[in-house]
Amino acid sequence: MEDQHRFATRAVHAGQAPDATTGAITPPIFQTSTFVQDGIGGLRNGFEYGRSGNPTRIALEEQVAALEGGVDAVAFASGLAAEDGLLRAVLKPGDRVVLGNDAYGGTYRLLKRIHEPAGVELDAVDLSDPDEVERAFARPVRLLWVETPTNPLMRIVDIAAVAAVAHDHGALVVVDNTFASPALQQPLAQGADVVVHSATKYLGGHSDLLAGVVVLREPELAERVRFLQFAAGAVLAPFEAWLLTRGIKTLPLRMRQHSENAAAIARTLAEHPAVTQVHYPGLPGSPGHDVAARQMSAFGGMLSVRLAGGEAAARALAESTRVFALAESLGGVESLIGYPSAMTHASVRGTPLAVPEDLVRLSVGIEDVADLQQDLADALARVGAGRPVAIG
Ligand SMILES: *Cc1c(COP(=O)(O)O)cnc(C)c1O
Repeated sequence: MEDQHRFATRAVHAGQAPDATTGAITPPIFQTSTFVQDGIGGLRNGFEYGRSGNPTRIALEEQVAALEGGVDAVAFASGLAAEDGLLRAVLKPGDRVVLGNDAYGGTYRLLKRIHEPAGVELDAVDLSDPDEVERAFARPVRLLWVETPTNPLMRIVDIAAVAAVAHDHGALVVVDNTFASPALQQPLAQGADVVVHSATKYLGGHSDLLAGVVVLREPELAERVRFLQFAAGAVLAPFEAWLLTRGIKTLPLRMRQHSENAAAIARTLAEHPAVTQVHYPGLPGSPGHDVAARQMSAFGGMLSVRLAGGEAAARALAESTRVFALAESLGGVESLIGYPSAMTHASVRGTPLAVPEDLVRLSVGIEDVADLQQDLADALARVGAGRPVAIG
């Protein structure tokens, strides 16, 4: 039923039928590890043990599948657990993976440190360059890993274009949709086979949980990922599933405000003398703007800036804001600031995925944008316009 409704209606209702026994409008948290059987093997609605299935987790999985347009969604204990579940369901020794050269550092580390030693071959390429994409497919590829917008440089990959190339070569296309969320971008409709999420970020939206989801459009692959979830056991706990479900109900509202605030801040920072570059796909003339305008309904809440004062200025700015909190992660209602080179991307220093040292990343929250603008203006003034100035 929910599938026929529009996005914001599905966000509220998909998988969220009132409780059958009490009529509770909000599906309860089934905080239980096991389920009573009516005689040996007499399962009630198929529920047996918390690792194989939990009603709260299933309610969440139905909600996310409905929002991404997949046949199924499988929820894990974190974004990386979800990625690992998918990779182990798909890859075997000798398979080759191509991923974007500014993919999330943890994704690169997972492939490099866990899957490459297990016999998987790995190549990181610039997926925004069609020639590099063609060259990457000169040899067989099992899986293409796409992130768009990328973290932290906000590069845009044309999902439909790279998916067409990958499918011509028989590769599976995975899109990490964490930054855009299904409210702004629908990768399965654009040709991807699989969507993964760090639901820790925008899906949850309140910086109060860790979770990951794999969304699939092929029932057979969905079954393999679900088996991995059950057999390897990195399942999402009932309380986390319930919190996540609650957060998702306001996803469309939040994404609209995140996008509006980030766009205003990007425009202001682009004019600031201390800023040499703003990475935000919503700025006209930025690389990828046209593709982003085509494949996204808004440009999201993430942006990054490079500072004239170099590394010292970037570090100082990250430590100088008062509303933007200095922290890892992103996608919550509160604004966060980070210094990727030594924080989120410390693990990829010295690799092809290393990020510039004059770069600061902003996760723009849903506070009043005037307060956010003032906070950044004040912090930039304290840091010194373009000069690395000691603060204290
Ligand atoms: C945070 C993040 C991940 C990893 O998710 P966790 O929930 O931290 O395990 C993967 N991809 C992207 C783009 C992320 O931002």
